[in-house]
Amino acid sequence: MTAREILKQYFGYDEFREGQAALIDALSHARDALGVMPTGAGKSLCYQVPAMLLPGITVVVSPLISLMRDQVQALVKSGVPAAFLNSSLTETQWQKVMSNIRAGQYKIIYIAPERLRAPSMLELAQSLSISLIAVDEAHCISQWGQDFRPSYLDIPRFVAQLAVRPVLAAFTATATPRVREDIFATLELQNPLTVVTGFDRPNLYFEVKQPKDKYAALTEYLKENAGNGIVYCSTRKEVEGVAARLRADGYAAARYHAGLPDKERSQSQDDFLYDRAKIIVATNAFGMGIDKSNVRFVIHYNMPQNVESYYQEAGRAGRDGLPGDCILYYTRKDVNTALFLINQSENPDEIVRNKQLLNQMERYCETAGCLRRFMLHYFGEKTAEDCGNCGNCVGNFDETDVTVDAQKILSHILRLNKAGKRFMFTHTADIIQGKSEDFTDLSTFGIMKGVPRRYVRQLTNRLTALGYIYDDGYLSAAPKASEVLRGGVHVTMRGRAPESSEKTRKEKHRAEAQKHTIPEELFAKLKVLRLEIAREEKVPAFVIFSDAALVDMCAKRPRTEGEFLDVSGVGQVKLERYGERFLALLRQEEPSSGQQENPPVLTADLFRGQVKTEDSLIDHNSPNAR
Ligand code: ADP
Ligand code: MG
Ligand code: ZN
Repeated sequence: MTAREILKQYFGYDEFREGQAALIDALSHARDALGVMPTGAGKSLCYQVPAMLLPGITVVVSPLISLMRDQVQALVKSGVPAAFLNSSLTETQWQKVMSNIRAGQYKIIYIAPERLRAPSMLELAQSLSISLIAVDEAHCISQWGQDFRPSYLDIPRFVAQLAVRPVLAAFTATATPRVREDIFATLELQNPLTVVTGFDRPNLYFEVKQPKDKYAALTEYLKENAGNGIVYCSTRKEVEGVAARLRADGYAAARYHAGLPDKERSQSQDDFLYDRAKIIVATNAFGMGIDKSNVRFVIHYNMPQNVESYYQEAGRAGRDGLPGDCILYYTRKDVNTALFLINQSENPDEIVRNKQLLNQMERYCETAGCLRRFMLHYFGEKTAEDCGNCGNCVGNFDETDVTVDAQKILSHILRLNKAGKRFMFTHTADIIQGKSEDFTDLSTFGIMKGVPRRYVRQLTNRLTALGYIYDDGYLSAAPKASEVLRGGVHVTMRGRAPESSEKTRKEKHRAEAQKHTIPEELFAKLKVLRLEIAREEKVPAFVIFSDAALVDMCAKRPRTEGEFLDVSGVGQVKLERYGERFLALLRQEEPSSGQQENPPVLTADLFRGQVKTEDSLIDHNSPNAR
């Protein structure tokens, strides 16, 4: 079989995504490889397809138990013989898997790095023909990464003890050069094919908000968006508080942080994976290796400490390629909290480094430019264009007359200059916004109180660009400022006024989604059927079919087995297993002659709360429900 045939037959996809074909080709021809691709890009397939092509067994080292379980379940449902070895197995289960391995029943074995040390493991490995060892989340091997795991250092030791060196593959979404270097060196990759794909996630919508009341902003969002989502908070206390309020307000919200007992944590995680809890409120302890594909939003209730963490956490939305929202609630207070945490370190170099990283994060929050472009630049990609799908791009970008605000800022700077003072932007803004202890007598003190800092910065930048302000690090008013102060010249700005226009963004989203309209009722019915099957088989719904596969069913309306196979995400085994039930349902629907009798619904809306489907069905009687 060719790689492409395997892609179709087992995974149900027609095309490889960027980077996949090259990596698969290298690995299946016994060349080492390193794949650096963003979350949701499809790294798993890069070792799963070669596993089916290579003669021996493939060992996948993976850091998280839940991730292994999901991946193995999904593989088995697709007809790939796979199993995992980790601490969640009972002794009997463990023995069973071990004897099945010896009997050659699996093509892929997932294993926790901690297990590589066990003598029994090495013994087993030496008796097997291992073709490929794939290291997932390979950044865990680096002490420079955020998620260093000492047990990952056992991997090279393990490999060295094998009679024949298998092909080695490493995959990660974290791409700093330093970490990449570590992966290279520690795993001793030999002449690896290195593939680094673009970091953009076009289906994700980015936005920064400065809500006066974060909780109100959150519930307002939740009212309109019924999909599954993560709310990240920076402290355990905040997690507790937000989760409790949400529950009191009737939301199915689980909570997750490192201070909770293991049992509650894994329960929370499962509730979220199995869609029993629509929302999980969590610290950054939650998420690595969470492969749930249908996360529709990630809201940061507090600003994270650096852009890299932010992109990784936010990137957990929309892994299925359907629209996802990444929204950050930002206040100056978050910056202070972050500074406080950073200053706790004993290591002065680390403090300096972390402050620099924090400063970048702040700049992301304050920028008036395209958020996606900011992010891509941060990761070293050059893009000139505005993305058109972030809060700043779809905000109200009409030219607005901002003369009055410009006059305020200019007269403020002029007054300071007359008092013999030139300050940097921050101090200058603090005074005009009434946030400073000094200059309380100045007539411009506090005259821009309550206005978003971002706007003040944006306008100051604009005035500097127009030559009304000199900025050499310290601000002073240029002579020409008098033109504006006297009212002879109007100042306009392309950018949003202080209140961001929620409406514009929605309309924009709607226009985006208009391309693919799908019938609401059918989609809902498919989801119900999927949930029914997931319950019978005791797996999360997305293991049966992703949302993207259901959307494709709505679009293609297959009536025969052949047509069903054409649906993206339907392979041979899934056809055999679920084809009949889904086809029965699809055949009941009238063919889409003359197009939709059901009112069409915009794809994006299906994930934004217009459609209530599973909500009313979610597990009131499941044994695991709380
Ligand atoms: P990563 O590990 O890179 O974050 P995954 O391997 O979990 O991403 O894949 C994310 C999603 O993309 C999965 O639902 C997977 O089935 C899907 N996917 C992967 N490759 C393809 C492809 N070639 N065509 C369509 N969907 C794909
Ligand atoms: Mg992965
Ligand atoms: Zn943009």
